[in-house]
Amino acid sequence: MKKPIYLIADQTYLISDYKLVNYYLAIGSDKAAVIDTGMGYGPIIDDIKSLTDKPLVVLITHGHPDHCGGAYAFDEIFMHGADETFAKETYTNEFRSYYADSRVPERFPGKGNAEAIKATIPASTPPFTYTPLIDGQVFDLGDRKLETIHTPGHSDGSVCFLDRKNRLLFSGDTVNRSIIIFGEHEVNYQAIKTYQDSLQRLWEYEADFDYLVVGHDEPLLDKTIIQKYLAITKELLEHGAEGAYEERGIRKGWVYRYDSAELWYRCLS
Ligand SMILES: [Zn+2]
Ligand SMILES: [Zn+2]
Repeated sequence: MKKPIYLIADQTYLISDYKLVNYYLAIGSDKAAVIDTGMGYGPIIDDIKSLTDKPLVVLITHGHPDHCGGAYAFDEIFMHGADETFAKETYTNEFRSYYADSRVPERFPGKGNAEAIKATIPASTPPFTYTPLIDGQVFDLGDRKLETIHTPGHSDGSVCFLDRKNRLLFSGDTVNRSIIIFGEHEVNYQAIKTYQDSLQRLWEYEADFDYLVVGHDEPLLDKTIIQKYLAITKELLEHGAEGAYEERGIRKGWVYRYDSAELWYRCLS
């Protein structure tokens, strides 16, 4: 099996992890950044090497296994420390198999797809070490820079990476078309508030980017989707709105929709 690869902006590639999750290669004049690593299905490094021979730095948007699961293929890795516990617990080949079985029916339906994807998992996927990311940290790739913005909400250690030169914001699962806020009911409103603060913070950089480069499904979204999520959090936190309980694929929780954005909250899995 081969992962689909698309050029989505100047010197910027999407590598689709068999349609389950997106990761990216941002090539600069001196170095290249791999932004997220997918779930760990192969091949990883051969694809990257076919696109660039520059030294690599790996920047993880958050510690969920579909974003850091391929870290074993790399040496120099940065991730926010707040996601370490979850990242370690789910960094297993059992979880990589479970993820294919549970997500393929919704995202990549087709007979034999899950088995074919699972067959790409290497027998050995050693644990990775990483350097903790710091808010504001800048990665200089030569003619482009990536700036770290800590945006907790989807997870405590979620970050976005701002590429001012190309007017892109790599947003992982902080902003895409379907965002999940995990947690029990009692603590969930605090988590939504944390998420709202992160969205407000992102919007302060709004003059510096046009598109979000997101962690799942279609790669590029207009930045105005941030305003849609801000509207949703406002409805839930300030106007007493309630979503409805739904189950869809792996999602089980309450959902509130506004235009093309949907926020799942009180999700326990
Ligand atoms: Zn996630
Ligand atoms: Zn994800």
